[in-house]
This record gives sequence, structure tokens and C-alpha cells, in this order.
Amino acid sequence: MDAAENHQIESEEFERWTCDRHDPPILLAMVDAAGHLHIKVRNRDWYVTDFTTVTATCPKCGAVHTRKFAGR
Ligand SMILES: [Zn+2]
Repeated sequence: MDAAENHQIESEEFERWTCDRHDPPILLAMVDAAGHLHIKVRNRDWYVTDFTTVTATCPKCGAVHTRKFAGR
């Protein structure tokens, strides 16, 4: 396979964490089946695997979303 593969997130495998005040909802991050967090902003792509509480601010309305995850 070429180097471009795996650069796209398969949305079926991920839960979308969104700000629901908008239509369509604004995506804050993606959570995979293992509870790992994927955050993609412009050319940055974070993959976070060890955490318990995450706070995200909606880029559109400024609402703060705090979410707890099971720690490892
Ligand atoms: Zn919002």
C-alpha cells in the first residue's frame, strides 16, 4: 500500500464527539472503540490513549464540553 493510506478516519469505527447546539453538530473529537481520542485540526493529528477527563471548547459557540473516560 502507498503512504497515503490510513490518513482518512473510517467514521464507522468511531463515535463522533460533537457540540449539538448546531445543525449539523460541530465535531470536537472522535472516540474509537477502545476509548482512545482522535483530534484532527488542520495539519495536526493527535491520538491520545491515556487520559480520564477531557475538556473541549466548541470552536463555533465557545461551549465547554467535559467528558470522562475510563482510565487505563
Ligand atoms: Zn457549539
